[in-house]
Amino acid sequence: MTTTTNEMLCECGCELEVIDSFESSSTTRCQTCGLYSLLIRHPRFQQLILLTDFHLKRGHGPNQRPLTNLSMATQLVECLVRDAWPSYATVVDFGIDRSSHLGALQFAVRNGVTAYDLDRVMGDGPAITQLVRSIPGQPYGAIKFKTAYQGLAAFEL
Ligand SMILES: [Zn+2]
Repeated sequence: MTTTTNEMLCECGCELEVIDSFESSSTTRCQTCGLYSLLIRHPRFQQLILLTDFHLKRGHGPNQRPLTNLSMATQLVECLVRDAWPSYATVVDFGIDRSSHLGALQFAVRNGVTAYDLDRVMGDGPAITQLVRSIPGQPYGAIKFKTAYQGLAAFEL
């Protein structure tokens, strides 16, 4: 049995199927266009974030990472909590290239964004940007994240 969420629809107008969930967030897949989105229904912020190349990066294929592997995002959250710079790999995956990027992420985590949320947007600049900007009172409201993979993913499509 698949659960669907009728509260939000995909950009194409079709229903979203819930793939997995953590706290107030769910990863959804459009039954028509197949694209994944991160649906956040936090008491203070609601957001539907399109995960452009998630279907290419995640799964059980040889070059894909299982959906349950949150290790990079978990490491990032630990660094944000300790006010430390994350590893080089994490910096690249999240497009962190100045302290304001770190500050914006830190604000997001302190206000309810979880490792699950960060894992879903990882490597996707526009998705990271949308997630971080969706937090009410975000002091870095104009922040923009850009990752190394963006152009690459578009090319593969
Ligand atoms: Zn769709």
